[in-house]
Amino acid sequence: MSSVVRIERVAKTYRLGEQTVRALNDITLAIEPGVFLAISGPSGSGKTTLLNLIGCIDQPSSGDIYINEENVSRRSANQLADLRARSIGFIFQTFNLLPVLSAAENVEYPLLRRKDLAAAERKQRVDYFLDIVGLGKYARHRPNQLSGGQRQRVAIARALAIEPAIVLADEPTANLDQATGAEILRLMKEINEELGVTFIFATHDEKVIDHANRRIEIEDGAIRAFGVRRPDGDWQIIRAAANAAP
Ligand code: ADP
Ligand code: MG
Repeated sequence: MSSVVRIERVAKTYRLGEQTVRALNDITLAIEPGVFLAISGPSGSGKTTLLNLIGCIDQPSSGDIYINEENVSRRSANQLADLRARSIGFIFQTFNLLPVLSAAENVEYPLLRRKDLAAAERKQRVDYFLDIVGLGKYARHRPNQLSGGQRQRVAIARALAIEPAIVLADEPTANLDQATGAEILRLMKEINEELGVTFIFATHDEKVIDHANRRIEIEDGAIRAFGVRRPDGDWQIIRAAANAAP
């Protein structure tokens, strides 16, 4: 099967004044379409950096990244923005909604870049995805008139509205209480199963890992282990010997 994301020997260094920080070191991995993948590891291990590279928000210092088997490593900022607008949905720890826009306007916002979508089609998608996340009645509410869980639901609808190949979620439950986090996770799992959208999480949260069917553990910018959920529910852990892909 072809991969929705493929990463080959990717490294990322940041310059901080005189210093260079090596955030990722020789990462090789492949992600199949339709998975619910949790990337876990201690704070500072490189989870967000990896997610930003997959999301084409940032570019690797070396190595190659393929989205739907197209090499995106050396594209221009404008080409990457187009790719994101068509293929990649983002969900953040702090929701990142625009405070002056209503829930519906927030969901519509990334669609405005899509010149191929008429206003009627945009509106249809906004209604459809607000409904899927259970917020049909809250379309006109501003973020500050919504609870944390509801805000994250708006963010999920916004991520889905472009009908992306992948949704990237960076610590999406970290700012929610236990019960709300669990609810949000169940919703994402349902969307994963029913719409077939690939979800990739960076997370500390054991609950996310409990729902996942693939996992990657990273430490100091390197992959320590790959895990595949077996049909009996247990993890088959594959150690990352010399950067072997799963
Ligand atoms: P995580 O998400 O697992 O906590 P990050 O990917 O945010 O880890 O960070 C990995 C490493 O890269 C850390 O040492 C962090 O300090 C460093 N880093 C991340 N972003 C930047 C940046 N923009 N400039 C300099 N260093 C950075
Ligand atoms: Mg992070």
